[in-house]
Amino acid sequence: MRAAIEAARCGLDTALVTKIYPVRSHSVAAQGGINSALKDTDSWEAHAFDTVKGSDWLGDQDAIEAMCKEGPGDILELEGMGAIFSRDIKGHIAQRPFGGAGYPRTCYLADRTGHALLHVMYEQVLKHGVFIYDEWHVTRLVVEGGKVSGVIAMELDTGKLHRLRSKSVIMATGGYGRVYRTTTNALSSTGDGLGLALDAGLPLMDMEFVQFHPTVLKRTGILMTEGARGEGGFLLNSLGERFMEKYAPKVKELASRDVVSRAEQTEIEEGRGVDGCVLLDLRHLGADTIKSKLSQIRELAMDFAGVDPIEAPVPVKPGAHYSMGGIQADMDGQTGIPGLFAAGECACVSVHGANRLGGNSLLEAVVFGRRAGKKASEYAESAGLTPFPDSALCDAASEVAGILKREKGERVYALRDEMAGVMEEHCGIFRSRERLGKGLERIREIKERYGKAALADRGDRFNAELLHMLELGSMLDASEAILVSALHREESRGSHFRTDFPKRNDAEWLKHTLVAKRGNDFSIGYKDVKITRFKPEERKY
Ligand SMILES: Cc1cc2nc3c(=O)[nH]c(=O)nc-3n(C[C@H](O)[C@H](O)[C@H](O)COP(=O)(O)OP(=O)(O)OC[C@H]3O[C@@H](n4cnc5c(N)ncnc54)[C@H](O)[C@@H]3O)c2cc1C
Repeated sequence: MRAAIEAARCGLDTALVTKIYPVRSHSVAAQGGINSALKDTDSWEAHAFDTVKGSDWLGDQDAIEAMCKEGPGDILELEGMGAIFSRDIKGHIAQRPFGGAGYPRTCYLADRTGHALLHVMYEQVLKHGVFIYDEWHVTRLVVEGGKVSGVIAMELDTGKLHRLRSKSVIMATGGYGRVYRTTTNALSSTGDGLGLALDAGLPLMDMEFVQFHPTVLKRTGILMTEGARGEGGFLLNSLGERFMEKYAPKVKELASRDVVSRAEQTEIEEGRGVDGCVLLDLRHLGADTIKSKLSQIRELAMDFAGVDPIEAPVPVKPGAHYSMGGIQADMDGQTGIPGLFAAGECACVSVHGANRLGGNSLLEAVVFGRRAGKKASEYAESAGLTPFPDSALCDAASEVAGILKREKGERVYALRDEMAGVMEEHCGIFRSRERLGKGLERIREIKERYGKAALADRGDRFNAELLHMLELGSMLDASEAILVSALHREESRGSHFRTDFPKRNDAEWLKHTLVAKRGNDFSIGYKDVKITRFKPEERKY
């Protein structure tokens, strides 16, 4: 939406295509906040350093610098658009401490930041006259003569396929968290954009880096914001110990997410868990703080775990949360195909490297959304319309007809669940060649069965089963890309931990992974990391 606003501001005819209503996008679930160095006592350089360190030195430092330098302007602009950030006692925008940050620089609206920002964005989209195709599911990117010519999308209300022709296309399709069984992500976070990009011949970058959030409510995918630890919450094991003192003696619960998730998993696997979880204790913060600053997570804990954090600790465990990898794009969102751009979680610019700091992805979406919107407008102004071949629509239609025609076969829901189980078991927090190799075999086998799966619903209107089928195709591609990339990276860095290669190895692996689809296979390549001012050092919290 930020990209669309920018394009409309540049005077272009702009359309937003979205498979769900814009305000239901996963961004709505963001709780904790958005980072920026706003105070005189903080600096963009300090924010950049924390981000580079958080990324385990795999983030591209030129992109990180741009994000941290431009971020404060974007925050003030959001406020000007109507986002009423929570205030400190002097009436300034309040900022809370967050994991991996050396300074409290996370701006927030209580624990509903994404909700507020998304609604403000949507108002701006309407104000700027952006045309919205709500509940249109993009099934193909159309590229002709090496340039983008538009997309093909299914109108969910009728099941009809349409061609949408345009000079520039910006992909902002979000993450792929749903390839895992325990995930904080919305049902719609199925990595469609990654599948579309792979099919168009584009490489994905750093797919092995999947963020597991340390505090996901027991037996649900519901997030308990990092803000809870930012406000002073403790993590306890079954012996009542604040175990983070062992793993990150200086900052304890506020180490970066990969460090905390690994610590929790170790406690659980070594028998110091509580029913497969650890405990998030907020009681000492007091009822007032919990009610004013963490009211949403209090409600969620009460409704979904029957625990009131004012009275008792909340059972939590790690869950898949964020995709550091994605469609390789430069700082203006440009991909390898002229006219095709990517921004937000589906893109890999890369500002998060091997591990993202909480509060940096809303910022990324806003900063690089704006930049991509501007560059895509410039491109559209200079480029002509690329022809849109009729065959593209015919191919897309016959693909769907082919799926609908199959009479007998496995059901898509069961396959989707099986895939998520395989990813959880074989490509989770702790990985090894053996685990990953078996996972890859199983995903390839599920892929074959997917090609023969059949639907029970053959209707045209809101055929949710057909959508699940289309989404599963992208999810299987994303899963395979994650597994192949993870198998190749024989070191441990950020969120990617190999029990058979437990050390970071800069001599061989200080490089980005590129993975591309060649027919049915995936090929691997590498790209240098941009280092400007921060030389790699050991990461300790
Ligand atoms: C529970 C939770 C809490 C979080 N909290 C924070 C936080 O506090 N701070 C922070 O910085 N980050 C947070 N994050 C991460 C952050 O919210 C996301 O990375 C970011 O909001 C993603 O924005 P996006 O615009 O890239 O994608 P999304 O908001 O996921 O939007 C994707 C859009 O793409 C559309 N789309 C996808 N596929 C198709 C298709 N095939 N056809 C048409 N449309 C399609 C969808 O309809 C949707 O509108 C959180 C994430 C989660 C899951």
